[in-house]
Amino acid sequence: MSTMSALRIVEWGRAPEIVDVAVPQPAAGQVRVRVAGCGLCHSDLTMAAMPGEIGEALGWQLPFTLGHETAGWVDAWGSGVEGYTEGEPVALVAPASCGQCRACRRGLESACANGVVGRGYGRDGGLAEFVIVEDPDRSLLRLGNLDPRFAGPLTDAGATSHHAVARVATRVRDDGAVLVIGAGGLGSFVIQLSKLVTGGKVVAVDPLPHRRDKALELGADFVVDGVGTATVSELGGVLGGLPVDAVVDLVGSNETIAFATKVIAPAGSIVVVGAAGGSLRRPVLGGLPGDVELWSFQGSDLADVRAVLDHAAAGELKVETTSYPLSGVMDAYEAMENGTLEARAVVHPASTPKLD
Ligand SMILES: [Zn+2]
Ligand SMILES: [Zn+2]
Repeated sequence: MSTMSALRIVEWGRAPEIVDVAVPQPAAGQVRVRVAGCGLCHSDLTMAAMPGEIGEALGWQLPFTLGHETAGWVDAWGSGVEGYTEGEPVALVAPASCGQCRACRRGLESACANGVVGRGYGRDGGLAEFVIVEDPDRSLLRLGNLDPRFAGPLTDAGATSHHAVARVATRVRDDGAVLVIGAGGLGSFVIQLSKLVTGGKVVAVDPLPHRRDKALELGADFVVDGVGTATVSELGGVLGGLPVDAVVDLVGSNETIAFATKVIAPAGSIVVVGAAGGSLRRPVLGGLPGDVELWSFQGSDLADVRAVLDHAAAGELKVETTSYPLSGVMDAYEAMENGTLEARAVVHPASTPKLD
């Protein structure tokens, strides 16, 4: 077999397409992974819709294969690679990081000065049967007993959630609460991790009833259905006076950021992960309570990826997924856009390990 199907961005501003490409051969120092599962991310669609100038300014060259939440089985490797066995389950770190710059030396790979091209954004990712890992020492993580068909979302949605919860956790007291705005793909991880690493109650906000049900299943103590003015008092009632020590905003719109600033307790922590383009206004009077800290980021560090994989391997973190074949990937994106996905969508380009 010399060709495979891959979901690629072939032209800026146009929907991605499934095209036939050559099966990549691992060069010296590289490992080829057979993709068992690749999670879909909202940013895939954002990238495809981007004007070409932005992509080019980032150094991204078309075409490239999408997919930055990848796990699979080690399939082949080039000369100089040692220590892997064929069929071994692994997860792939998507963001590129150099390991040399000031941020990387501090373990802050998400701030790497040289990390704008990642697996699935700017170079080939996991929405194809095979993917090449150029830097296995930095980017391949052994999965042990975790099933690679469903582990992909841990490396992005899971790791980003871990990064957020780790940022705010020190501000959360046992007699306080964490407010999670958005109970979708990332929210399901943020809810579980907040329960795991803080002693506070967890409140999830989501307008969609099936997501609120899922949030309760995953350990949220309370759910609220929106961020309107009425909901500020509703939240107060639900919490029975418990202060909101942290807000993890996975939407990031004007409305959700305004809501976060209204409900946060003094000395609380707000982290805005969602990229809906909202801005923060800080009036002189009636603004943020004293000593509130604000975090803004996209992404995660290698330590976050390792931590979520450890939590999952220990059975402490559930990965909620909905499976699609590669041929159904556009249906999955459509369901994501419509908010009808039950859980993180995972595409399975290769469904069983090669047994010969
Ligand atoms: Zn993503
Ligand atoms: Zn770096």
